[in-house]
Amino acid sequence: MDAARRNAYLKALSIQQWRLRGEPASNAIQVAASAAVDTDLTDPASTMSTELLTGKQVAREELDATLMASSSSEESSSVVSDAVKAELENKPVAIKDLSQFDLEQLATEVSQCVACELHKTRKQTVFGVGHEKATWMIIGEAPGADEENEGKPFLAVSGQLLNQMLRAIGLAREEVYIANVLKCRLPNNREPKKSELDSCPPYLQRQIELIQPKIILLLGRVAAQTVLQSDQPMAKLRAKVHHHPDFNIPMVASYHPAYLLRAPREKRKAWEDLQLARQQIFSE
Ligand code: URA
Repeated sequence: MDAARRNAYLKALSIQQWRLRGEPASNAIQVAASAAVDTDLTDPASTMSTELLTGKQVAREELDATLMASSSSEESSSVVSDAVKAELENKPVAIKDLSQFDLEQLATEVSQCVACELHKTRKQTVFGVGHEKATWMIIGEAPGADEENEGKPFLAVSGQLLNQMLRAIGLAREEVYIANVLKCRLPNNREPKKSELDSCPPYLQRQIELIQPKIILLLGRVAAQTVLQSDQPMAKLRAKVHHHPDFNIPMVASYHPAYLLRAPREKRKAWEDLQLARQQIFSE
């Protein structure tokens, strides 16, 4: 955000000075009362509301809220969050260091995530469910509508097929850990955007690190390509054993249950992939 616009926001809200969180008060920036800024905001309501509907809306809304709160209090400077700081510096919001988080803390962090625009349309995040020391970890793409409503992954028809597949290899759903690459629903089940696939994986990475499964089953192209960091099609990724680059955990990619429901002839291949995954538990 350039200085003139920042000034405009601040001035329109009667803020005389502001500073970023953690910065000393001596670094506070005085808000200039320049003519250019005044012209910019002859109609603050219309100019700002148009602006607030575009771009990094969260940070801007938060900036607005922060500034509003501050302008109505006695304070003359305001402390702003990382999201606002990122907006002010024109950078994407970074996910913080998760390396000390346990599963519960991670779930809380995910529920508050604003790293990509999916947070604007979600009802709630879907973190993951299952045994915290599971041998098997199942990773899908993103929650659907039912999963978002319940806050749990793989519930609807594809979840039922997944349960059947697990039962076929002698596993109850409660024994495994199930998560998705993306923790928020994709509106109208659209394809995930690169920015979404770039921002969310650190959460999954920490989940894998904490659970330390003996085998990871990647369901569907998006999960497989994201975790395997590949752009190859599923036909090339399945039927072989990959290894997680950081944790050396064996991983097998296979067809997504939703795809198997549309293409039941591929179930035989999915069954072979499950067998291959099961063998890894005993061979590693
Ligand atoms: N599809 C997925 O990939 N994950 C879910 O949780 C539900 C459907």
